[in-house]
Order: sequence, then structure tokens, then C-alpha cells
Amino acid sequence: MLDIAKVRAQFPILKREVNGKPLVYFDNAATSQKPQVVIDAIVDYYSNYNANIHRGVHALSQEATDVYEAARENVRAFFNIPLAKQTLFTSGNTHSINAVASGAHVFVKEGDEVIVSAVEHHSNIVPWQMLCERVGAHLKVIPVLDNGTLDMDAYQQLLNDKTAFVVVNHVSNALGVTNPVAEIIKRAHAVNALVLIDGAQSCGHMKVDVQALDADFYTMSGHKMCGPTGIGILYGKEHLLNELPPYQGGGEMIDQVSFEKTTYAGLPHKFEAGTPNICGGIALGAAVDYLNEVGMDNIAAYEHELLVYGTEQLKKIDGITIYGDVPDKAAVISFNVSSIHPYDIGTIVDKLGIAVRTGHHCAQPVMTRFNIPGTVRASFAFYNTKEEIDVMVQAMQRAVMMLS
Ligand SMILES: *Cc1c(COP(=O)(O)O)cnc(C)c1O
Repeated sequence: MLDIAKVRAQFPILKREVNGKPLVYFDNAATSQKPQVVIDAIVDYYSNYNANIHRGVHALSQEATDVYEAARENVRAFFNIPLAKQTLFTSGNTHSINAVASGAHVFVKEGDEVIVSAVEHHSNIVPWQMLCERVGAHLKVIPVLDNGTLDMDAYQQLLNDKTAFVVVNHVSNALGVTNPVAEIIKRAHAVNALVLIDGAQSCGHMKVDVQALDADFYTMSGHKMCGPTGIGILYGKEHLLNELPPYQGGGEMIDQVSFEKTTYAGLPHKFEAGTPNICGGIALGAAVDYLNEVGMDNIAAYEHELLVYGTEQLKKIDGITIYGDVPDKAAVISFNVSSIHPYDIGTIVDKLGIAVRTGHHCAQPVMTRFNIPGTVRASFAFYNTKEEIDVMVQAMQRAVMMLS
């Protein structure tokens, strides 16, 4: 099990105060905090071996290349990706999705259908809309039921021989609900459609095995799994990554360049044009080491405990509605109290040192579905405690009293 005092001591930011109160950081679905080992990895790189990678013959360049590639290997193993060359570094989850969608005209033809779900983040909607516009394909939407889960019967109805791509998040950032992605993938494959899973909310919170899921593409954000911002991952099946055209042209991604014709480098370099976020990749490698040390099973079990406790305690507030209150979910609680605007609650609890998210969480269609302007979202990580949840619930009660 987790030694929570020891874990908290590893996150320097958790010692600080906000508005004169100890920080209670419950905005982990927006970005996670960073342990000292990740901060140290960043400082160490810039202090001791900063150099451009993959090209230099000099010692520093080789050292930086070795550590960067070792980080890629760490990330590969963490998600059970078969090969390092299928573990592509990007600038984030949004970049990863766009890298696939921008080249997906090789998979999606005029008249084809692309299925998204009604609980997607804008970054897993808009790139596919752009693709559909470009190729003349049609976007179809899996509806969401009142309890926040996807309507799997409706999904089955949408699947047909025109379905070319299905894109769904593993865990919804707006509701926290875990989608049955293995089943979604299986059914998509039955009609020969490809599947991209947006793993921005699952990575760092649960064990993810891209091979067991049989995902064709899987995308992650480094900053949501204790790594820095500006680094993400794209996994793809090898033959699909070979077929997919490069997202950006430039240095690193070429084999031979002439004004008549350029040939591209092999994987992963074909998708890594330009000088990458070397420091970010290295620090993400350190984050993965750290998560392994704490143990993903421990993290998942403890965060679930926080979810259950937080849900129980929040339900004591009169007039609360929790959206997506189902057993199979991540430690994200999205709610409203009576008709109080979420922004007003967020502003008051911030004065008490509590960081929650308010608004549409980059998922406006979800808010439209539930006919609300937004929600208050409390999202937990393994360095949070039940005591912090108590502080939040008390603050919520105070805010509600002031506002009703
Ligand atoms: C955060 C998030 C994204 C976007 O990731 P970025 O790191 O902002 O690029 C996409 N989908 C989901 C489900 C998210 O939570």
C-alpha cells in the first residue's frame, strides 16, 4: 500500500499555501503535480548534459541521446508497447491525435464514416471534423446515457461497412467515467474499422496495456502523469504508422532530401520532425520510473478509495447532482449544486485554498447533453488525502450557504 506521508513529501508544491490556507490541489485532471525526481531530471539535463540529440558525434550529444532513448524505452515498457519505434514522442495528447487525424485520409475515404463519442474532449472531436471536411466523410456520434456511460446499443447500430475510424477516450475528463474501450475496439474491428483511444485521463491513473486492448492508436499526455508539459506519446500499430504520412516535415524525419524528391526516415523519426522536447522526454522517463516505484496497482486502488470517499461525502450536500456517478470510473467527480453557477462555487473555495476546475472542461457537447453551463470538477491523485476531501466538502458547504 501507499505510504501517503512519504508520497506527499516527494511533491514540493504540496507544501505551499494559497490565500493563507494549505493548498488542496484537486485539479489533477487538468494537470498533475510533479515529484522532486522529475524536477531533478529537468535540472540535471540542463545543468549537466544539454545538447542536441541523434546527430552529434560529441560526448554530450551522445549522452543526451542515450538518456532520451532510455526514456522512450521506459515509456514503451510502461504501456506494454511492442517496440520503441512505435513509441513516438509528441508535444502532448492534442499533438498525438492531430498527427493521426491529419494523415488519416489514407484510411478514411469520401463517404466513409468516423465515429466519435459524445463525451470527447474537444481535442478528440475537432481534428476528426477537420478530417471529415477534407475527405468528405461523415462524423457520427455515440450518445451518452443519463448516467454518463456510452449507449453501447446505439454504438452497435452506428457500426457498418462504411465505418472507417472510431475514436473514444479511455476515461472522460468531464465526467471521469471509464469507457468500455476493449469492447468498443472489438466491435469496431468486427467491421474492419480502426480505433484511436485518447488516453489522456487513463495514463498515470491505471495500468494501460495497449496490446491487450488491441488499440490501433493510443495517445497520452506527459503532464497528466507526473511529467512536464510539452511532451506526449503516440502509440500506433507498426504497419499503420508506416502507412500514415508524416505530420510535419523538417529535420530528423528525412532519409534523403533533394529538390526533386524527399524520402522519409523510418519510425519513430518520421513523426519526430525538428529538435524534440529532449528535456521533456527525459523527465517523462523519470516520471514513469517514479510511477513504477509507487506502483500503478497501488495508485489505482488508493485513488479509487478517494473517489468512493469523496462521492460519499459530497452527497451529504443538499441539492448536489453528480454527473456520471457509476462504479466504473476514475477519481474525477463532476457536479453541480442546485442551480448555483459552478464558477461561483469555484471562486469561493479558491479563497479557502482549494483548487477545483469549473466550466465545460473542453467538452462542451457533454454540457449540452446534460443541459448545464458547466460543472465543478474535483479530480484526485494518489498524493491527495481523505482529510483534504473533508476540507473541500466543508468549503463547498460554506460556499453553497453563501450562494443560496
Ligand atoms: C487533457 C485532455 C486532452 C488534451 O490533452 P493536452 O495535454 O491538453 O494536449 C484530451 N483528451 C482528454 C480526455 C484530456 O483529458
